[in-house]
Amino acid sequence: MVLPIVKYGHPALRQRGATVTVVTPEIRQLIADMLETMLAARGVGLAAQQVAQALQVAVIDVRGVTDRPSTLLVAGQPTSPEALMPLVLLNPVVTPINAAVIGPEGCLSFPELYADISRPESVDVEALNEHGQTVRFRCGGLLARAIQHELDHLRGVLFIDRMSRARKEELREELDELQAETKAGLAKLAR
Ligand code: ZN
Repeated sequence: MVLPIVKYGHPALRQRGATVTVVTPEIRQLIADMLETMLAARGVGLAAQQVAQALQVAVIDVRGVTDRPSTLLVAGQPTSPEALMPLVLLNPVVTPINAAVIGPEGCLSFPELYADISRPESVDVEALNEHGQTVRFRCGGLLARAIQHELDHLRGVLFIDRMSRARKEELREELDELQAETKAGLAKLAR
């Protein structure tokens, strides 16, 4: 089922996700719905907070982006990132392994808004997959950026927290409008 994606101004986006200890049927359904939702929205990644669930669940699929490469090492061996897609990460732990680089980012909870964000180019990742098994890999490029963006979501951190003050100022009016629209929608629901 395609779920509604909550937008900036929704309190769920600021919630830290609870650790997933067991992949219950409910978690399995959430993962299936998040994959469907990400695909429908043509997103590269989606975190549980974006469908109003405060859990450490993220899904990623970089296959739709052909102009921004990703690298992947599994057990030290170069592997096609496509082999890992779509990627489901529960409780991910991410360790930066080199210097930060600047790259463009957007977010499904901030439609049409983009900013350059500085993040480590490559990271080591350890997480549980949708089967509750531990997965470990090293990745770079777009995949590393997408994973770090989703990891932020799982902690209630948004890309507006990481963009330059100047860029945030440029987007101020659009951000305020989006936030007001979201809050108005929530108020209507509450009535
Ligand atoms: Zn996002």
